[in-house]
Amino acid sequence: MSKKDYYDILGVARNASKDDLKKAYRKLAMKYHPDRNTDDPSAADKFKEASEAYEILSDDSKRSTYDQFGHEGVNASGFGGGSSQGFNDIFGDIFGDIFGGGDPFGRRQRSNKGSDLQYSITIGLEDAVRGVTEKIAIPALETCGTCSGSGASEGSQPVTCDACGGAGQVRMQQGFFSVAQTCGKCQGSGQIISNPCRDCRGQGRVEKRKTLSVKIPAGVDTGDRIRLSGEGEAGIKGGPSGDLFVQIKVLPHDVFERDGKHLYCEAPISFVDATLGGEIQIPTLDGKVKIKIPEGTQTGKLFRLRGKGITPIRGGSTGDLLCRAVIETPQNLNKQQKEILREFDHSVSSDSKQSPLKEEWFSKVKSFFEN
Ligand SMILES: [Zn+2]
Ligand SMILES: [Zn+2]
Repeated sequence: MSKKDYYDILGVARNASKDDLKKAYRKLAMKYHPDRNTDDPSAADKFKEASEAYEILSDDSKRSTYDQFGHEGVNASGFGGGSSQGFNDIFGDIFGDIFGGGDPFGRRQRSNKGSDLQYSITIGLEDAVRGVTEKIAIPALETCGTCSGSGASEGSQPVTCDACGGAGQVRMQQGFFSVAQTCGKCQGSGQIISNPCRDCRGQGRVEKRKTLSVKIPAGVDTGDRIRLSGEGEAGIKGGPSGDLFVQIKVLPHDVFERDGKHLYCEAPISFVDATLGGEIQIPTLDGKVKIKIPEGTQTGKLFRLRGKGITPIRGGSTGDLLCRAVIETPQNLNKQQKEILREFDHSVSSDSKQSPLKEEWFSKVKSFFEN
């Protein structure tokens, strides 16, 4: 599904101002508005295309994401370019005054549209950070191949309903009132299929499992959605398909914890290394990295590895990896080792230079009891 560049669609330069965008969009929208092009069905598509381009480029954050990541970026962020909601927002903004609001695509097309589908996908942290292509199998209603979605069996055609004249509604007189009701003969579709297709029983769509390749861009996080336009349920009787939304869930990792664009991990450090200083290996997503730890390192000290975090999908700088030192108390020492430590302990003076935390703590506790 290759898409045209939004700037090309609007015919503006990449550094176009907001005013330029609005002017360009207004011009295209006037030209291709479906109300003015009732005999040109391609106009609606061009209109929709321009609306989508304007929706993204008129929003600063969406525009910068688009500039950086292209269509993939704006789709994955769940903006859903050209969604009916976004469209309505723009419609109110620019067209409210020209066409007096309303639905430029008409009711009928919408009501035949297939439902949007949602699919949840669970991926590992490495895949979320680097991006991955996943194959998914989804049960979906697809356009029936036998009748090409018309619902009529081979060699026959649906005919206009004679009860409602194709309107799908009939007016009934109830006392003083005339009420519109869904036509009972055609169930509101306006067409009668006298010889229904056997494979879809006249529905124009059949249930099939389809396999899709979903390209998950680098930097996604739990809660992000990827929109695959037209991959939802097929429309009724040849109507447009709905969209498929792939909801991302990132699994917890054994070593790293994620907080936005930063990664956290813990590294156990021997009390000797922590005391004397030394070198330790820290895991990163790109392999191990050696870092120096200074003399007198305490538990809780954070070592920051710049740029070893995650590059956010919505743009901005790559995050850091923060590694928390955890000093390990040795266990199961033999007699000789214990003797050495006791000897060492006798040599330690109780002044604040050798045990700063202990000294600070004792003085705080002391003043707490005195007050
Ligand atoms: Zn069929
Ligand atoms: Zn009817």
